[in-house]
Amino acid sequence: MFVNLAQSPEDLSADVCIIGAGAAGISLATRLAARSIDVILCEAGGLEASEASQGVYRAETQGDEYYDLETARLRYFGGTTNHWSGWCRQLDAADFESKVQGVPTSWPISKADLDPYFEETGNILELVDIKPDEALGRSGLNRIDLSFSPPVRFGEKYHSELDKSQHTRVLLNANLVNARTRDHVVNAVRVRDYQGNERDIHARIFVIACGGIENSRLLLWLNDIGDLPFAGGSRLIGRYWMEHPHAPIGSVVIGDKNRFTFDENALDFFSPTAAFMREKGALNSQLFLKSTSYGGAKEVIADLLCVAPDFGTWVMGQFGKKLACVAQLKAAWEQEPVFHNAVTLGEDRDRFGIPRSQLHWTRSRLDHHTIRQSAMAFAKHLADEDIGRVKLDSWLLDPDAGLPAPDEMGGYHHMGGTRMAQTATGGVVDADCKIFGTENFYVAGSSVFPSAGHANPTFSIVQLSLRLAEHLAGRLPHAS
Ligand SMILES: Cc1cc2nc3c(=O)[nH]c(=O)nc-3n(C[C@H](O)[C@H](O)[C@H](O)COP(=O)(O)OP(=O)(O)OC[C@H]3O[C@@H](n4cnc5c(N)ncnc54)[C@H](O)[C@@H]3O)c2cc1C
Repeated sequence: MFVNLAQSPEDLSADVCIIGAGAAGISLATRLAARSIDVILCEAGGLEASEASQGVYRAETQGDEYYDLETARLRYFGGTTNHWSGWCRQLDAADFESKVQGVPTSWPISKADLDPYFEETGNILELVDIKPDEALGRSGLNRIDLSFSPPVRFGEKYHSELDKSQHTRVLLNANLVNARTRDHVVNAVRVRDYQGNERDIHARIFVIACGGIENSRLLLWLNDIGDLPFAGGSRLIGRYWMEHPHAPIGSVVIGDKNRFTFDENALDFFSPTAAFMREKGALNSQLFLKSTSYGGAKEVIADLLCVAPDFGTWVMGQFGKKLACVAQLKAAWEQEPVFHNAVTLGEDRDRFGIPRSQLHWTRSRLDHHTIRQSAMAFAKHLADEDIGRVKLDSWLLDPDAGLPAPDEMGGYHHMGGTRMAQTATGGVVDADCKIFGTENFYVAGSSVFPSAGHANPTFSIVQLSLRLAEHLAGRLPHAS
């Protein structure tokens, strides 16, 4: 059932109250309801975008140039999946481990803990035929598969199921503004609409699923105004925030197109093996070749004839036989998790009196090193095999050069801020996504990622929500 906050009864209680109806919140709500668990799902917005709700996302960014945060996420039913692109991939096994000495990338869980939810996540995201990785010769790289969701708009796809379910009530225009806690237990949260109507919601378990920036902002706020018993205080809330830096990194002339597996979008993907990352002291990355057939070919071949005349001459011959092409090489990669990249509370306040987010984001030396290593290995592989030549952009050739002025900047992937850890000294939530120091307050979404791999985050967000649903069902004896 869907109801506007103003029309809802005064007395609202459920087994589980989920705050935020995006990919994370909706995946969780539908799975809990399927196990006969009563859920109240609070959504800040309505069924359509509105200025009143979207304006709450206005925020300040500091450090490297970053997207406008008011448009980089959506604040209505279905959340940011109302305009996501649908690129999907699971995290690699190595992403859960330490890769580079001293860089805190390890998770308190492993890939095997998420594998049981792989198939169901694929069904939710409507992915077909996810192919395994295959080694790319002795290059230290794998050819990898990315899958593409149609893309699933969670609000549209699950509206009817949530509406008909006996076990879910979706409260629209219900903005989390406060929480009441006693002895490490959250007893109630307060939600408010745009006209000032308020309700207290009582539940046995609460889950915050408001996205990869908002989860941190709201926990920082609740910590400031109340007595939330965060173990270790608020020191780590908002910290170790991450994106996937994106950049074009070069152009490629391919001699034999048959040696590549361009998909229907003319894309082919590569990423380093775990052994390569360890050997090079680099984090994970994704290189993608976008075949542009003959576009821009002349310029690249002219350059190629200077540096590799034999190959250049051969390639010119191949164009007639339609075997060759020119491709653009782009990359998205794992960012080093660092304490100073963070969501903090600014001076300015939103319409509910809650301080707006301040996002500090800078890319590090390791971020440059990571993509330089993969790019050079890919260029070497093509030359060694004599199947292509890569002209890397100049900033990649110099190990001391910084990263280029942001082009695409990132993937709109907001990760970290409430990182998962073994103990409260290393993070905000435990391996079950429960906030350290509380008995019944959980976090869903990519803010719990302690490290980001290179995979687009939504696949792992859904896997984590399904795993959380199973954990919560285990705490509620009447679950079927
Ligand atoms: C342009 C674009 C392209 C993208 N492409 C991809 C891609 O190809 N692949 C990929 O994996 N990811 C992609 N993403 C990222 C993807 O959209 C997110 O990973 C995903 O939506 C996160 O899900 P979530 O549920 O954590 O957050 P959201 O989807 O943002 O949902 C959060 C929900 O919480 C609600 N909320 C916020 N504050 C409150 C409050 N105070 N009270 C109650 N409710 C609240 C919001 O209204 C929203 O409905 C893209 C993002 C953008 C912007």
